[in-house]
Amino acid sequence: MKVLVATEKPFAKVAVDGIRKEIEAAGYELALLEKYTDKAQLLDAVKDANAIIIRSDIIDAEVLDAAKELKIVVRAGAGYDNVDLAAATAHNVCVMNTPGQNSNAVAELALGMMVYAVRNFYNGTSGTELMGKKLGIHAYGNVGRNVARIAKGFGMEVYAYDAFCPKEVIEKDGVKALDSAEELYKTCQVVSLHIPATAETKNSINYALLKDMPKGAMLVNTARKEVINEAELIKLMEERADFKYMTDIMPAANAEFAEKFAGRYFSTPKKMGAQTAEANINAGIAAAQQIVGFLKDGCEKFRVNK
Ligand code: NAD
Repeated sequence: MKVLVATEKPFAKVAVDGIRKEIEAAGYELALLEKYTDKAQLLDAVKDANAIIIRSDIIDAEVLDAAKELKIVVRAGAGYDNVDLAAATAHNVCVMNTPGQNSNAVAELALGMMVYAVRNFYNGTSGTELMGKKLGIHAYGNVGRNVARIAKGFGMEVYAYDAFCPKEVIEKDGVKALDSAEELYKTCQVVSLHIPATAETKNSINYALLKDMPKGAMLVNTARKEVINEAELIKLMEERADFKYMTDIMPAANAEFAEKFAGRYFSTPKKMGAQTAEANINAGIAAAQQIVGFLKDGCEKFRVNK
């Protein structure tokens, strides 16, 4: 069996070493395609792969057509909107993610961006504190739960809304569960976004939702840029000089945001929530273990195209 690691943005060496150990211990062969610059390289590399580990790499119908021997793709990370699930199912390919492996890294970054924002981007002027502020967690999954844990340490009052997670599960963590996204945004001065990008959530963070946030509002987005209605966020920030937007996923309209909202808009140059040595290693090794479990025992835990 041949397991391909196809990563435009490679794993750290220590993570690749860990993946290799898992794959070779199972008696499989590991192949690496790192820092590829052209889709043709990916199409060539997947030809004889039985399993593929990816990060943000795009697996579409063309790649699946080229991968005649493929049985499983594992996205080392949480979001899997870079994989065409319908095409994978049509090709009889199992798709998995590795939930939870990078959640602490993303959560720490979200809190870091909140501190950066309330301290005026470290520009030397007097800022405010997070303690006592109301934080709304939009989607209480693996990342959201870690944000809650850290935010409570800062002394924030933590609220959450999740469309699928029962309120009792949220409240047992000492977090106040609300009934709707609207209520969350009305209640909280700071909202940290952790919804996946789905047909339902794309463009859902819009003017109507954001306009009722309390004075001094801040939106922190470490989820996906697609969930934001960028034109409506720009309109809102034009109307509200008190509104801050912090993200590690650069908007398509980054230049416009940067020009219009200096001092209250920040984007990292690259998506970097999960960019820590720990998350890299955890997610890579989990991906390798899930592949071995699937190929040897048919284990489909974490399958996302059921
Ligand atoms: P997760 O699957 O553990 O949690 C997602 C949560 O969203 C679930 O609790 C689910 O019930 C909830 N949800 C789904 N649809 C919803 C809706 N319409 N309204 C409200 N809640 C909804 O995922 P996670 O690990 O917490 O990650 C969340 C998202 O963050 C991922 O989908 C991914 O897009 C993004 N992410 C970004 C980075 C980064 O580097 N910035 C890293 C990891 C994950």
